[in-house]
Amino acid sequence: MKKVFNNSLLAQFLTVIGLLFLLLFCFYTNKTYSTPIKNNLENLPSKRPSNLLNLDESIDTIFNLVQKVGAKPVVNTQKTRLKKNETLSSALKRINFTNYHINKIINTISKLSSGPKILSSLPVGMIIEYSNPSDLTGGALKLNYTKTKDIFVWQDIENNYKSQVFLRPTRTEKTLIKGIIKNNLYISAIKSGIPENTLLEMISLLGFSIDFQREVRSGDSFEVLFTKEIDILSELVIQTKPIQYVSINLSGNKLNFFKYEDKFGYPQYYDENGKSAKRTIMKTPINGARLSSRYGNRKHPILGYTKMHRGLDFAAPSGTPIFAAGDGIIEKAGWNGSYGKYIRIRHTGTYKTAYAHLSGFHKNISIGKRVLQGKIIGYVGTTGRSTGPHLHYEVIKNNIQVNPMTIKLPAGKNIPKTDINNYKSQVQKILSQKIAIEKSIQGKKLAINEHDMSKTLILN
Ligand SMILES: [Zn+2]
Repeated sequence: MKKVFNNSLLAQFLTVIGLLFLLLFCFYTNKTYSTPIKNNLENLPSKRPSNLLNLDESIDTIFNLVQKVGAKPVVNTQKTRLKKNETLSSALKRINFTNYHINKIINTISKLSSGPKILSSLPVGMIIEYSNPSDLTGGALKLNYTKTKDIFVWQDIENNYKSQVFLRPTRTEKTLIKGIIKNNLYISAIKSGIPENTLLEMISLLGFSIDFQREVRSGDSFEVLFTKEIDILSELVIQTKPIQYVSINLSGNKLNFFKYEDKFGYPQYYDENGKSAKRTIMKTPINGARLSSRYGNRKHPILGYTKMHRGLDFAAPSGTPIFAAGDGIIEKAGWNGSYGKYIRIRHTGTYKTAYAHLSGFHKNISIGKRVLQGKIIGYVGTTGRSTGPHLHYEVIKNNIQVNPMTIKLPAGKNIPKTDINNYKSQVQKILSQKIAIEKSIQGKKLAINEHDMSKTLILN
């Protein structure tokens, strides 16, 4: 969410800079040429001043780049990766560039806007495509230094080094993934190619309604619709857009949530009737991704819990982040007898939640501090009376522990009445997109017949 906000700020900032630049340009031309306004319009640059949005599109190899810009030819291009503790200079030295060439290369990159910053922050593991200089061939480099940008360096026919930043070309792709849960949802979903971001979004969204450790059974299924942005050159997914639709079917009990942007442009999720997917308190206040699935518990949900057990236990590796289940004030954070390291949050006059056996507290946690739902407050451990790493989670209503599984938790804000028609047409639009994708998958299935083109994934 913060990212969206920053991006819109950035966009506003760039627009303002762009307008200022245009104004300056107008003044400049007015003063110099005194041309009438009508002609001024023709003199205005067709592109905005250089920024991220109008970089040239990157191409796949330095061989092609050199052809395109008419530089000194390259042969036998090779690839290496930037190693730990290496600078570009030391990497170039390792791949047999002489100091003379290294200095020229560093010099041309330094002259790029934010060049020095780029040079000091090249990522370890970055692929360096290169051609060594000789009498007949040019020295050249391609550095894929961010997910979205490449720097090319080449020698022109007078042997001068030139460099330029290019934007990698991307395309977007609407994706529908259907999955059947067989075992650990997280590991198998990742193995099956669901982008990690999308899975985490899905888990945190469903975490309001579902206790992943007890309510999800083998054979349950889900669907998720989202948009991927794909790097055309590498075919790698470089980012995903917020989920548009997610559905989970738990033993025939189906939950569907649809995206609808609030007036600030943040994605919010509601069921088909406009009821918020969020609850004031989460059922799974832990990174659901790392929960172990113990199927023994599922057949007999209460087996193994004594009568006096007044909370839910989530088995997860030590160090797994624990979230604030809802907005509230930290009422206790410290050692609490057999509970070990313990946090209690007061949410409303009615509800509190407690978290026990932690290995440690998040550094920003102290008594009296305000926390927001979903923020990390501590980490799974096994302090106090505990036989292994787990989170003991309690929901406390009017100072009495209640069963988080069965309690009807108050919902977040529903779609306002004035928006409900807009929302319902959005739901229809999303569903028809889903159907269109299903049909195209079906079409491919019929066409190919031999191969299963279905995106249905069996998750193990
Ligand atoms: Zn417990």
